[in-house]
Parts: sequence; structure tokens; C-alpha cells
Amino acid sequence: MASKNVKDRCVFCGRPDTEVPYLLKGLTGSICPDCVRLAKEYVDEVEGQASARSSEPVKMGKAPKPKEIKDYLDQYVIGQERAKKVLSVAVYNHYKRISHNLVERPDDGVELEKSNILLVGPTGTGKTLLARTIAKMLDVPFTIVDATVLTEAGYVGEDVESILTRLLQEADFDQAKAERGIVFIDEIDKIARKSDNPSITRDVSGEGVQQAMLKLLEGAVVNVPPKGGRKHPEQEFIHVNTQNILFICGGAFEGIERHIALRKNTRIIGFNAENKERVGTDDLLQYVDAMDLRAYGLIPEIVGRLPVITYLDQLDRESLKRILTEPKNAILRQYKKLFEMDGMELIVEPEVMDLIVDTALKNKLGARGLRSICERLMADAMFTAPTSRKKTFTLTLDYAKSVLEK
Ligand code: ADP
Repeated sequence: MASKNVKDRCVFCGRPDTEVPYLLKGLTGSICPDCVRLAKEYVDEVEGQASARSSEPVKMGKAPKPKEIKDYLDQYVIGQERAKKVLSVAVYNHYKRISHNLVERPDDGVELEKSNILLVGPTGTGKTLLARTIAKMLDVPFTIVDATVLTEAGYVGEDVESILTRLLQEADFDQAKAERGIVFIDEIDKIARKSDNPSITRDVSGEGVQQAMLKLLEGAVVNVPPKGGRKHPEQEFIHVNTQNILFICGGAFEGIERHIALRKNTRIIGFNAENKERVGTDDLLQYVDAMDLRAYGLIPEIVGRLPVITYLDQLDRESLKRILTEPKNAILRQYKKLFEMDGMELIVEPEVMDLIVDTALKNKLGARGLRSICERLMADAMFTAPTSRKKTFTLTLDYAKSVLEK
């Protein structure tokens, strides 16, 4: 019998194609799916041992120190020093708490309470990015929900339990994994109570949702429909314990400065109009506290479950410029990569960066505006790049101006 061609055998285990489900053929040899799986396990194991300082996700049980978390965040998030520090400490404490309460089984009677986090700051300043980056670092399931789509059970909209359905899905229905995940609840300010007078009429998308959300935040066992929604009444609930799920909430809380100013009135009132304007916006946010959130319309129980409060600064010109090029997955780096894949080098004139930043500032969308502006600038070039023979595309100031002025 003629011996099998090298391409008809797995070069790792040597089995011929007749003994394996299929072979993945490479240039000089083939590999069977079993060996691919083994190789993946090996790679995961080796990479899992990489230190917290590297960009690889950190495995649970080896909680990184606050400084390590901050160093990691620095690679992705520009500025926001205060928020990064506060978040690093909160996340570190969260994992300390898990190991103290669950692993070490405390007999000293001290049970560490959960510290969910609230990030207050204008849109496009990095709230979601911070939460996402933390989850990536810790290699835990992560989901983002928009508080505005949630309603009290029985009303049109999503039940709050759907948040946990999504987390379960993110964890491939590994319940233990999901129970250590991170949930980012965006736009929490939009479910603030609409009036100061509680419950004159039913407020199903405001106070009602806050009430429903309480049990998630405080760490209860919640019945979660694994398929989500109310379309599958026959499904069995999964009982998810939210005690170790970290909730990070974010919101712009537009106008909260008024409440902060009122609370600190002795310092603000009496200033002349010019000073008031200066103190009145960004600078005031740094003083935000639980009382202001209550005045804004969050119910006291929710505020009590969000003990870590920090703020994000409005991004200034300098930060926006850095965001274009510095972070590991900076926007311009991403475009460079896209062009590179078509064999083309992208060159951006330095003045174009100023133009992009100025346009973003004008649009008042924070860093969110940067991407859509870049998309407009690159659209035509990206259309022609795959079929072009040119080796470079230079984004000049004249061209950029002509596109943005259209
Ligand atoms: P927010 O949740 O505060 O509205 P995001 O975190 O969603 O804003 O930010 C939108 C995008 O803008 C991010 O994906 C990121 O590309 C960029 N971005 C925002 N803030 C920062 C920052 N501080 N550092 C780096 N990139 C940022």
C-alpha cells in the first residue's frame, strides 16, 4: 500500500485523514481538529500565566493590585486620572472581598460588603471604555445595558432580569463565571425620578425601574429566564446570585451641577457672573456626592448601593488629540491597520489631527465624535484602496477641509 502523503496526515499526532474527522491543510502539512484543540488549551494555559502587567487578561484568583490595574487602564484610557484610580481600588477591593467572603470563609465575623461603582461624566468621556477595559483585563464576562430600555416587570420594555440573561449569554451559560462578571448600566441618570414628589402617578420607567434594580445591586438571588424576554414562559429559571457581580453604572447627569452648587451655596453664590460660569461646569462635578444624586432623582436605596462615586472630566483639546494616536487601539492606529491590509500606508498630516479635534469639540460629542469624523475623511480612500496600485494615501489638510465642509 502506498504510504500516505504528508498532507494527508496530521503532522502533530501522525494520524491519517481516515482516522480523524477532517484535516486542516497548511502549506507544508496538515493538522487535525483534536490537535488544534490541544494546542489551544496549551496556548491558553501559557498565556494565562502571563503577568498582570502584560496586556493579557488576568485570571481570577490572582487579583491584580490597584497600581497594576491603573497601569493597564493607562494603556487604553487617556486622562481621567481620578476615575482610573478610584476604579482600580474599587475593583481590587471587590476581588479581595470575594476571596475573603467565599474562599477564606471568614470566622472573624467581618463580612466585606459589596461596592458597586457610579461614574458621573459627560457623554463620550470614557465611562463605557473604562468598564469594558476592566472586564477585559480581568477576563470576566461583561455586558452593557442601557437603563432607558428597562421597565418594571409587566410593562412594555425589558425586565431588569434581562441584564442577567445577557451576562449568562456572555459567559456561555457558565453560571459560576457569570456570577463573577461585570455589568455596565449606562444612562442610569435617565431613570431618575421625574418629580420630587414620590409616586403621585406610577413611574414605570423611572422610580419603578430603580426599585426593580435594587435587588440586583444589593446582591440577591434572582430568577433569570435563560432565553430572556417574556416570549418563552415555559423556560425554567436559572437562580443567579448577584452577590459577586460588580455593577458599574454610568450617566451624564446633565444639570447635576445645579444641585452641587446649591449644596455648596456659600461658595458659589455671590460670585460674579464670570466666575460662576467658570466654577459652574466641569469644576463642580468633582464634588458630586450621594446627596446630589438623591436631589437629582435617584432613590436613596440605589444611592446607598453605589458607594463608590467618581467623575470623569470633559475631554479637552489635548486629550482628544492623544486619543487619536496614543491608546493601544487608538482610532488612527486602527485606520492605519485597515489600509495596511490593502498594502497601503496611511499618512496623516499633523494639521489634520487639529482639524479633527476642532470638529469634534464643535460637535460636543466628546471622543465619540472622533470616529465618525475619521470615517468621513477616510471613506473615499477606503473605497479605492483595495483596487488601487498606490502604496500610500496621504490625508492632507486641504482634502480634509474639503470633505468636512461638504
Ligand atoms: P461614554 O460611555 O462616557 O459616553 P465611551 O466610553 O463610550 O463614552 O467613549 C466612546 C469612545 O470614545 C470610546 O470607544 C473610545 O474610542 C473613545 N474614548 C472616550 N473617552 C476616552 C478616553 N478617555 N481615552 C481614550 N479613548 C476614549
